[in-house]
Amino acid sequence: MRLHRVFIPAGFVVFASLLTGILLLNCHRNEPQSGAAYAAAKETGAPEAPEAAPDPEQARRDSFTLAYLMGKFDPATHPDFVPVALEHADREGHYLRHDTYAAFKRMYAAALQDGVRLRIISAARNFDRQKGIWDAKWNGSRPVDGEDISKTVPDPIQRALKILEYSSMPGSSRHHWGTDIDLNALTDAFFLKGEGMKIFEWLTAHAHEYGFCRPYSAKGPDRPNGYFEEKWHWSYAPVAKKLTDLARSELKDEMIEGFQGAETARRIGVVQNYVLGVSGDCLQ
Ligand SMILES: [Zn+2]
Repeated sequence: MRLHRVFIPAGFVVFASLLTGILLLNCHRNEPQSGAAYAAAKETGAPEAPEAAPDPEQARRDSFTLAYLMGKFDPATHPDFVPVALEHADREGHYLRHDTYAAFKRMYAAALQDGVRLRIISAARNFDRQKGIWDAKWNGSRPVDGEDISKTVPDPIQRALKILEYSSMPGSSRHHWGTDIDLNALTDAFFLKGEGMKIFEWLTAHAHEYGFCRPYSAKGPDRPNGYFEEKWHWSYAPVAKKLTDLARSELKDEMIEGFQGAETARRIGVVQNYVLGVSGDCLQ
């Protein structure tokens, strides 16, 4: 069999080399670029770099740490926190995250238009503040249901469960986050009649329009575990949900420590039953 001789003109070799070079350059266009090069590539109609635009929500979530989640900072000096004005509160000295406070102020103004006066009676409480509350209840210096439970409830698990009806273990409270507020009164009875009922009905109808949810709804199929119902506690969901997600993935019972009776956290399952034991409204 006879082989044909293939003749390649020198000009074609040069052309092919140039073509290969151009194709290689184009391949590099597909790598992430930034700044002027990326802008130039877009203007010339070259393939767009698959560089993702910065996502501020993602960046914010990434900025939360376990130390933040557990309230190990001082709200008075934290850059994301602002003091609550006296017109919105029962006293001076409350702090909230700026995003939560901005949303609250919108809600406050709308409620006032409808003749409802919202008042913040508790806001951010850091680990140390919560430890003060917890230890005082644990050692009996602060009564629980009028009793010194260090005497009436000697069993550590039972004593912790008693405090957990309404108070969080330090490191596991939503009040650490600067997203959660207690409004007007700390008893459910207040919200069952008169002015309290009007406030509760307004919040139930409208709080979600401003991003607020109520984590401690009535116990039942929607919320079988966790704290007793709190009609006064509201949470700024856009931020609190991110912190709840962080708690679900990173917070462990053995990290809940540094206060009296902390050894009970693991047996009680504080993260699963209390931190995550919130209403569906505050989870999705
Ligand atoms: Zn509360």
